Amino acid sequence: MTTGHDPASGQPRADAIVVGGGIAGLVVARDLGRAGRRVILLEGSPRLGGEVARHTVAGIDLDAGAESFATRDDTIQTLATQLGLGNEVVAPDPRGAWVVEADGHAFPLPKTGLLGIPGTAMAKDVIDVIGTGAALRAEVDSLLPGFVGAKEQKLGPLVRRRMGSAVLDRLVAPVVMGVHSAHPDVLDVDRVAPGLRGALLQQNSLARAVRHLREMAPGGSAVGGIRGGMVRLVDELEADLVTFGVDVRLETQVRSYDETSVTLADGSRLGASAVVIALGARDSARLDGTLGAQDPTTGLITLATLVVDDHALDAGPRGTGVLIARTGSPDVVGIRAKALTHATIKWAWLAERTDGRHVLRLSYDSPVVDRSTSDAELAGIATEDASRILGMPLAEASVEGFGRVEWDAPYRPPSGAASTSATGVIRVGGAIAGRGLSGVVKDARAKAAALLDPGAA
Ligand SMILES: Cc1cc2nc3c(=O)[nH]c(=O)nc-3n(C[C@H](O)[C@H](O)[C@H](O)COP(=O)(O)OP(=O)(O)OC[C@H]3O[C@@H](n4cnc5c(N)ncnc54)[C@H](O)[C@@H]3O)c2cc1C
Repeated sequence: MTTGHDPASGQPRADAIVVGGGIAGLVVARDLGRAGRRVILLEGSPRLGGEVARHTVAGIDLDAGAESFATRDDTIQTLATQLGLGNEVVAPDPRGAWVVEADGHAFPLPKTGLLGIPGTAMAKDVIDVIGTGAALRAEVDSLLPGFVGAKEQKLGPLVRRRMGSAVLDRLVAPVVMGVHSAHPDVLDVDRVAPGLRGALLQQNSLARAVRHLREMAPGGSAVGGIRGGMVRLVDELEADLVTFGVDVRLETQVRSYDETSVTLADGSRLGASAVVIALGARDSARLDGTLGAQDPTTGLITLATLVVDDHALDAGPRGTGVLIARTGSPDVVGIRAKALTHATIKWAWLAERTDGRHVLRLSYDSPVVDRSTSDAELAGIATEDASRILGMPLAEASVEGFGRVEWDAPYRPPSGAASTSATGVIRVGGAIAGRGLSGVVKDARAKAAALLDPGAA
């Protein structure tokens, strides 16, 4: 990076302008600021953190967005340690999640899987769900050479070829749709399960590849959390930005950019030696003008959080939460939610802070729930859904708190959609690294390191 003066303002030129104060932008700004670079971070909204945020329901502080991270590598553990949160990283309750199918049948998700792909096809918890015949079909995976399916770009066809449709429809699709709001048939394997195709070739079996990736994950659990919520990462990153003298500007929307400058919504320009665009896919397309107004994939995710005072929930009737399997039938015994997290079972630290009350977080895709759904309606829908999903009636009087949060649904640009933006701009964030904190942070830190030491890249 070179320095000098900004011709527009006459001020010393920043080394880098980071556009977007989500986790990706925060991490890049911190790593550059820590190395002594002059950094300006521009965030369009009034707060930092993006999809990592906090809300308070019935006096309880909760994650409003991301509430866990993938432990397939030590990216987040390392970041947390560097931020002084190393001892605050926790594993979820081992009871695991359940699935509810169209006919109301509920079963625990097999324990040793990855995105629902079983690590052992003939395990009892797999046979219990898909039956012996389908498990035997899945076991064929262990006899096929590794290259079968390894060239498939999408997760659905890969699983179908190796393990058959029952594994895909009944185990993988519910998990993947819950996490990514999209069917495995349209999701890139390398984005949602990095390393899986390589491990398949190496291990000559998808099940063995899954076991291998799980063994590589520190702690053995597929996800981890942070005592107090993932949002503590944002708090600590924000504190570091102050320490390292990063110039953070909230409510500063960037309208356009090139490799050495950005233009703000008020028409003013800022220059820097490097411009880093740290946005999710939708924001990035919006900034580049490639987001069609009528794009059918735009949508809304609504989270409804209930704080419930009912000791019948203490036993955790459906483990840490439930994914609703809609494959083949959009109607699942009247349940409208796509997933429920029993947060006070999943996270022991949270249960310690709620005076025995339970926190249930239900998620909804539009148009099932959208902005026309009133809070009162949503609270009613969520209470009814929670009763059906948990298999026990919740009295309305037991619901002590209700919270609502809305997020843009994950956006996948139409294939072939080209970025209209300048070359030479550094790109991080969900638009490049996909959905999920581990991948986003890993990519952001690698790009920050490359900026600091271009020779090493
Ligand atoms: C409800 C929900 C639950 C999730 N759960 C998990 C989970 O449990 N585990 C997990 O790993 N991941 C989870 N994720 C995904 C994860 O949160 C994201 O992948 C990650 O936070 C994205 O970070 P980012 O920095 O790329 O983008 P964002 O968080 O979207 O940040 C981008 C920032 O840029 C700002 N911005 C946008 N346009 C402009 C502009 N033109 N000028 C200036 N600023 C702009 C935005 O206001 C925003 O603050 C979840 C996401 C959601 C929504």
